[in-house]
Amino acid sequence: MKFSGKNVLITGASRGIGASIAKVLASYGLKVWINYRSSHEEADRLKEEIEAAGGEAAVIGFDASDEAAFVDAIKTIVQSDGELSYLVNNAGVTKDKLAIRMSVEDFESVLRANLTSAFVGCREALKVMSKKRFGSVVNISSIVAESGNAGQVNYSASKGGMISMTKSFALEGATRNIRFNAITPGFIATDMTNALKDEIKQSYIDKIPLRRFGDPTEVAQTVAFLLSDHASYITGETLKVNGGMYM
Ligand code: NAP
Repeated sequence: MKFSGKNVLITGASRGIGASIAKVLASYGLKVWINYRSSHEEADRLKEEIEAAGGEAAVIGFDASDEAAFVDAIKTIVQSDGELSYLVNNAGVTKDKLAIRMSVEDFESVLRANLTSAFVGCREALKVMSKKRFGSVVNISSIVAESGNAGQVNYSASKGGMISMTKSFALEGATRNIRFNAITPGFIATDMTNALKDEIKQSYIDKIPLRRFGDPTEVAQTVAFLLSDHASYITGETLKVNGGMYM
């Protein structure tokens, strides 16, 4: 995979899909900045694993839903490396409940964690990438942005917002050679989906044409493609990685 840039920040990279993205991008020669919120030990272990495999990594702890902390983190990266070439807005949370039991606080807290954090990341990336007239951003949305899901009014709204926001950022970044794309993963085997009861998991698998949950690496390789020079004419796009569950 060919990359003209040199470094990448991945939010929520201590575990799950984010950790896989970090490993895959490091294997393609990028310096990866591993962001975590609370899983410091996991982030440190991931850095060691990447370095043991010959890659370059740094750990940067901050809460992606804290605007000032996110802005400071990007400043730290630019001070250290002279630029930020790529950003993956991956940090995300769920707070599932049926809509009739969902408070405005339950709704807004998920919007803030998933959508507002990605907005701040895209905005700051656009500012620093504009100076080099180069950059690429991938936002991790979800299949439920496209299909909807009972019990996830808040989560699906946050992920749907990411898709339309990505298109608007793509329009603002295009004249400066900065691309913005989104990915909508289906059900991927991570802590987030391990929390589901076995019968619920099976009911989802029955609806997936490829008859299995995805592996985080399968999302990570798609992120790598969209960030890379091979996707140089793709912007404002949303790629599904869902085993055919929603076409
Ligand atoms: P996960 O296993 O629950 O891991 C979530 C990661 O996000 C952790 O590293 C966590 O860090 C971090 N995080 C959460 N809130 C954060 C914040 N405010 N600031 C910084 N980091 C934060 O989740 P996952 O399954 O890998 O999901 C990754 C992304 O893919 C999410 O956006 C999710 O919505 C999306 N997605 C997942 C699936 C799936 O089936 N798994 C499907 C579609 C979309 P700490 O541990 O340090 O808190």
